[in-house]
Amino acid sequence: MKPKININNLIRDNIRAIKPYSSARDDFKDVSTNDMVFLDANENPFENGVNRYPDPLQKNLKKLVSKIKKIGEESIFIGNGSDEVLDLIVRAFCVPSKDNIITLPPTYGMYGVIAEINAIENRKVLLNNDFQPEVKNILEQIDSNTKILFLCSPNNPTGNSFEASIVEELVQNFEGLVIIDEAYIDFSNEQSWLSRLEMFPNLIIVQTLSKAYALAGIRIGLCYASKEIITVLNSIKPPYNVNELSQQKAISRLHQIAGVESEISELISERKRLKKELESGVSFIEKIYPSDSNFLLIKVDDATTRYNQLISYGIVVRNRSLEPLCNNCLRISVGVSEENQRLIIALKALQ
Ligand SMILES: *Cc1c(COP(=O)(O)O)cnc(C)c1O
Repeated sequence: MKPKININNLIRDNIRAIKPYSSARDDFKDVSTNDMVFLDANENPFENGVNRYPDPLQKNLKKLVSKIKKIGEESIFIGNGSDEVLDLIVRAFCVPSKDNIITLPPTYGMYGVIAEINAIENRKVLLNNDFQPEVKNILEQIDSNTKILFLCSPNNPTGNSFEASIVEELVQNFEGLVIIDEAYIDFSNEQSWLSRLEMFPNLIIVQTLSKAYALAGIRIGLCYASKEIITVLNSIKPPYNVNELSQQKAISRLHQIAGVESEISELISERKRLKKELESGVSFIEKIYPSDSNFLLIKVDDATTRYNQLISYGIVVRNRSLEPLCNNCLRISVGVSEENQRLIIALKALQ
């Protein structure tokens, strides 16, 4: 068990003092009562399915998420994509021009962008050559203004998961918040950290419906943390941050979990097939890194040349060669079988 961390002490003073905006739907919550007339929100009363403001706390969606993820509704926060969730966490805990965060490149670019937008110093500590965090180097960077450590596991763009023992050591030894971004967890053999949330009051887990759940277009980010952290996020979020259509669409997708699961297993088997085909048949591919995600990071002879050649075949991949440790690397998302086949044929033709 972790030594006591007082989340309250980590919150910015001005945020702790905030009195959240109280929306009409906050003032009178019991919308399930029949035969009520709602004249409180200046909405247009003519029904069209979206003329009313959405539920600010997404209660029906949270109920479903709670059931699927086996975690209490009070430990769930839902954002307009995980990008909004990450930004709200930074804004709640980091004082501009004073505090700092730690990120572990090569990793998801939004952490650094969010830090810059909020005038927060981003201390970058490179992963090692196996794309694992270097605990000693990370701990050395921590000072009294370090509020958040960002871990992305499985990591984007490297595709691998961080070793559980390393993550645990970091969570145990850092007195600030540790965010584990599990955007790709559904494609991984590793366990989510969700089951251990209660053991670590400074742990925040972020997931998304954008990848495995195939809902990138509706922008739903899921966040799990202690009640104290969830309460802070609720107090600073835009009142109606998740729109009505997104809530409805997410709910209907979560009712079809079997369909989601079958897509995930198909993508995992396609990932394995793609890896095998490319490992044997393409001479300019120098390395295909192990992947716990729905993409492959591959090292080629000349990433920019190969990227442009693939474009001429009508195939767009991501050139990550400018990222540290990713020299001449392309990141390739796993598509449906026909798309992967087109990629395989193109790469073999380019020999
Ligand atoms: C794709 C991705 C996300 C998802 O962001 P959304 O805003 O929820 O679409 C989050 N983190 C990482 C590492 C990602 O690659």
